[in-house]
Amino acid sequence: MQKPQFAYFRGDMVNIDDANVNIRTHSLQYGTAVFEGIRGYWNESEKSSYIFRIREHYERMLFNCKIMMINLKYDIDELIETTLKLCKKEDYNEDYYIRPYAYKSSLAIGPKLIGLEDDFFIYTIPMGDYIDTENGIKVCVSSWQRVSDNALPARGKIAGSYVNSALQKTEAILNGYDEAIVLTQDGHVSEGSAMNLFLVKDNKLHTPLTTDDILEGITRRTIIELCQNELGIETVERKIDRTELYTADEMFFVGTGAQVSPILEVDHRSVGSGKIGKLTKNIMQLYFDVVRGKIKKYSNWLTKV
Ligand code: PMP
Repeated sequence: MQKPQFAYFRGDMVNIDDANVNIRTHSLQYGTAVFEGIRGYWNESEKSSYIFRIREHYERMLFNCKIMMINLKYDIDELIETTLKLCKKEDYNEDYYIRPYAYKSSLAIGPKLIGLEDDFFIYTIPMGDYIDTENGIKVCVSSWQRVSDNALPARGKIAGSYVNSALQKTEAILNGYDEAIVLTQDGHVSEGSAMNLFLVKDNKLHTPLTTDDILEGITRRTIIELCQNELGIETVERKIDRTELYTADEMFFVGTGAQVSPILEVDHRSVGSGKIGKLTKNIMQLYFDVVRGKIKKYSNWLTKV
């Protein structure tokens, strides 16, 4: 794997080793930042990479800046242009991940959002699978609850809220699972530690509502649209009970990092036959074909670097 060499930091392209913040930085102390995770896919035959749905990621980041009262001095086109410039400079010849980060940059004590300066950086890092997409994974229902909208809005993709994700993921790994599914404070299924969840029941897809404290995933949106358009499969967005996980025919996580990742076991109960389901396989194929530019109809979701 190649190593990242550059970052966009304080308005400049700099050597990544020089992109450092002061220990007094507000967001380092209080998690007062919002960020994105975007994927670039290497295309060997074209010797170029394509970024998946970059505009939608920056749209979400700008909405989230609003929640966190972060004023960015860049508009969406400038954010995209700067990202492309950085990716060109890095010149990876493999798949990678882009991390834009908007944060409270003042050197200040006191957890608040006003009267502080804001700044923005981007770095990138080569990335293959974040979790297993080939063999399927084993998950548990976490004993940790999802942060709720009135406490720490999950839709905000707020740096500090990832402590909640870290608690879930760590517990899952230490208990011998690959990932966790987390429930809302009223006990309904929300999502994974950093990915959205779909289950298949009676040839329909089911996924938790955006009001069940999920991050409103761009991959989730993509899957709903692709399944409707290409497979004629409808997705029902609704409240899902914990025990519905035990009776699902198929189940999978989706996310920029997770891509489409089949779940074979939940809380020691096999999902369906315990093998990757037929519909899940079709969806994986479709998704990877789309992100790798093999289906021209969706090439408007890809931005060439
Ligand atoms: N939920 C959480 C908590 C996440 O961190 C992510 C990853 N960004 C997702 C869901 C999936 O979102 P997306 O498809 O936009 O990457």
